[in-house]
Amino acid sequence: MSHNYKGFGSLVIHAGHVQDPMYAHLTPIYASSTYVYDEAEQGSRRFSGEEKGYIYSRWGNPTMSEAEAKIAAMETFGIEENGKPLEAMAILHASGMAAISSLFIATLKKGDKILTHYSLYSGTQDYMRSLLDPLELEHIIVDLRDLELAEKCLKEDPAIRMIYLETPANPTLQCVDLKSLSDLAKKYGKITACDNTFATPYLQQPFRQGIDFVIHSTTKFLNGHGTAIGGVLVGRDIEFMKTRATKTHRLLGGNSNPFDAFLLVNGMKTLEVRMQRHCENAMQVANFLNTHSAIAKVNYNGLPQHPDHAVSNKQMKHPGAMMSFELKGGFEAGVKFMNKLQLCTRTVSLGTCDTLLSHPASMSHSSVPRENRLAYGITDGLIRLSVGMENIEDILEDFSQALG
Ligand code: PLP
Repeated sequence: MSHNYKGFGSLVIHAGHVQDPMYAHLTPIYASSTYVYDEAEQGSRRFSGEEKGYIYSRWGNPTMSEAEAKIAAMETFGIEENGKPLEAMAILHASGMAAISSLFIATLKKGDKILTHYSLYSGTQDYMRSLLDPLELEHIIVDLRDLELAEKCLKEDPAIRMIYLETPANPTLQCVDLKSLSDLAKKYGKITACDNTFATPYLQQPFRQGIDFVIHSTTKFLNGHGTAIGGVLVGRDIEFMKTRATKTHRLLGGNSNPFDAFLLVNGMKTLEVRMQRHCENAMQVANFLNTHSAIAKVNYNGLPQHPDHAVSNKQMKHPGAMMSFELKGGFEAGVKFMNKLQLCTRTVSLGTCDTLLSHPASMSHSSVPRENRLAYGITDGLIRLSVGMENIEDILEDFSQALG
């Protein structure tokens, strides 16, 4: 239970831990595909749910359970509803995309539509287009920062079943208003889901804003060290999570594994201190870039000129450690800047200890037609940045020399 901890930092260390029967300090990597029974009747009781216990590792495993309980505790920490602590259930998956798959398959049926914002992780957009469209699960993409437009869509199209959100979103750091959109969804009897990967539960708890489901790519800040791919689906409707969501996870087979779960559990124990350092550094990096003569624009929700600064302030403890910026010199300047970096790391992904930079136009989005790329706000000179935990002087020195 998350609610016994005074602070988030204690919760991330202790929540979800169960003393190992062999008295190991840390929950070991339970590398076992299946679990045994003392007698046939016990197997029968486990299968029927009469007796608690592990059966088969696609369904669950003690190392994975610790990660799930810790994440559910983080996402509900300090939240009360109707005078009672909010409870949620988390299901660990092989990747963020596996968790997103379970969400859509568990909640939607043929003919349902998803209403979503245009700034989303490219894999999620591709999933909707390539895998959901052929199943007659359409999506409608609009600017969900326009609440009147969101309401108009809900009013005019009763087939919309879910509002799917990601805030702050990739790579423009646009933020949508979780509370207003979840209120609208409730008014029209729709469900809501939010990808909370960029923020982490330390900075933002979508359940606090009334959202029904939270998804993470645990690959990023939750793991924090870039050591494992993973994802999680968290839901506040415990009955739904125990039945339909659990069945979907088991049958789709996108389960995690004990080794990756072990890395995740231990990475998450430092989430609070890591996020504090990431965020402090990010603010200084944003201020530095914002006044640099080679930079045309900085997209960081922590800067007052960012169009979603107020929404970000309303629902996040701090604006986070992700940002993007445009170099005045366009594509060539982007490539040149990337090649000159000496300390910071040229790679995609985010949320590791080191500062990571990518140049979408020449890397992740090089196959996207230029007009489409520009329409998503991915200009030729745009650089995406995940600010790390190095000493700030070293990050700024590297940027200075690479921009010079
Ligand atoms: N959501 C966001 C915001 C992401 O950035 C990513 C991956 O970059 C995903 C989901 C997918 O996660 P994974 O790569 O763990 O499948």
